[in-house]
Amino acid sequence: MGTVEKCDFCPDMIRQGKMPACVSGCPMDAIYFGDQNEDAVTNASGVTVRFSQLLEDNGGYRHLEELGTEPRVYYLPPKNRKYPVPDMKSPGKEKKHIEMDMGNMQM
Ligand code: SF4
Repeated sequence: MGTVEKCDFCPDMIRQGKMPACVSGCPMDAIYFGDQNEDAVTNASGVTVRFSQLLEDNGGYRHLEELGTEPRVYYLPPKNRKYPVPDMKSPGKEKKHIEMDMGNMQM
């Protein structure tokens, strides 16, 4: 059995001037990587965009941001969602959505 480990942002790859394996291996160019302080991120095709603009234009968010651990991974919600975006600041509401979805599956 393997052991779950936390993402370390592939420092060995970065020192070699390469992108992390998850970025370069993503066939949909969906993963961007970069330095938050430089406000620039790049995907596997070499497309570089302003990080802050990417988050603003796409509603970027961090999981459990309210815990104050300053996570460095951001997520962009899908477009044309089938279900409403969960209210991340009210975990109870999010749970309600999940319960509703499960209820629909049992019908
Ligand atoms: S491949 Fe991606 S997810 Fe895995 S450690 Fe490297 S940066 Fe993190």
